[in-house]
Amino acid sequence: MKIRSKLPDVGVTIFTVMSKLAADHGAHNLSQGFPDFDVSPDLISLVEHYMRSGHNQYAPMQGIPVLRERIAEKIRDLYGADVDPESQVTVTSGATEALFAAISATVRPGDEVIVLEPAYDSYVPVVTLNGGTPVYRQMKYPDYRIDWDEIGDSVTEKTKLIILNSPHNPTGKVFSTDDVAALKEIVQRNGLLIISDEVYEHIIFDGAGHESMLRDPELADRSFVVSSFGKTYHTTGWKIGYCVAPPALTDEFRKIHQFLTFATSTPTQLAYAEFLQKRNVYLELPAFYQQKRDLFLDLIRESRFKPLACQGTYFQMLDYSEISDKADAVFAEWLTVEKGVAAIPPSVFYHRQDDHSVLRFCFAKKDDTLKKAAEILCKI
Ligand code: PMP
Ligand code: GLN
Repeated sequence: MKIRSKLPDVGVTIFTVMSKLAADHGAHNLSQGFPDFDVSPDLISLVEHYMRSGHNQYAPMQGIPVLRERIAEKIRDLYGADVDPESQVTVTSGATEALFAAISATVRPGDEVIVLEPAYDSYVPVVTLNGGTPVYRQMKYPDYRIDWDEIGDSVTEKTKLIILNSPHNPTGKVFSTDDVAALKEIVQRNGLLIISDEVYEHIIFDGAGHESMLRDPELADRSFVVSSFGKTYHTTGWKIGYCVAPPALTDEFRKIHQFLTFATSTPTQLAYAEFLQKRNVYLELPAFYQQKRDLFLDLIRESRFKPLACQGTYFQMLDYSEISDKADAVFAEWLTVEKGVAAIPPSVFYHRQDDHSVLRFCFAKKDDTLKKAAEILCKI
């Protein structure tokens, strides 16, 4: 039997492809974004504690109340926003589920959705599944500036939604207050909804602040803000995230979430609820990752790879144009197979495979992993 594909142009994600290639060839895996160092033993003990004390059955569909309260407290603390945990916070199985539910709750056949490229690969397939039309606009290489005039000119009467991501994967670009002001003018003028992917909200460098949509009541009023504990607590395999949205949007979001996964892991939610009280863990994360970024940059300084600016996330873009004129996907494969360092080719994040001769390297790795990978890069 065969079925007609609903996503004929979609293959296996680049993260799966590159991680497998890295494993098959014993390469240092700086491709897929996940830490290779350990999770806090205290956090692991908390999960074990809740498992052993009988918290192993379904959680409430919306998420465990104490976790939603702690999320709301963190948001009040960091972004000065008053969010009602009961009607505005939903715990999900990772940010990926939250993005799926938010896009599915809003997009109907014929709706246009503005997507900034390079775009994290899970947005567009969901727009397509819901019959929406992605309208692509590119951040401007090499500094990945957003041309807001161009975005404003892209709006038609069919435009429903804009999908945003700051700190941005794969470029490391972070919104400035000017970006947010320009965005606000456009969404207000045109009555647009926002999905704001803020999974790297705690990984931001050089003293910059995170411009969450939640900081501005008028933007928060039209936004689904999505985050993920995976990035903050080095636990990408636990797949817990959340979505914050106004009550009317949350109602529609939960109609999808309840049939997508219903609820997410109970002992893990309870553990995070307790662990979230240790504010230092996320407050110290920028310094922790800035040190990794700077170490990696220092280690490759003598190489022929040239770094682009990285203001946030745990990804560093490196320009390899002095080394090769191969397409980025070809160069990434060669680097993995022949040299033993895996990275992500950013052309996969563009609908027309734009290629600037750069690769994305994940520096959420032990210093030793970074040293070994950098040693190889320096010899190329
Ligand atoms: N959005 C962005 C920009 C990401 O980089 C990721 C990946 N980790 C996700 C969403 C998905 O997050 P999660 O693993 O919590 O589903
Ligand atoms: N977000 C991670 C990255 O960008 C990968 C997530 C995944 O593998 N789905 O590398």
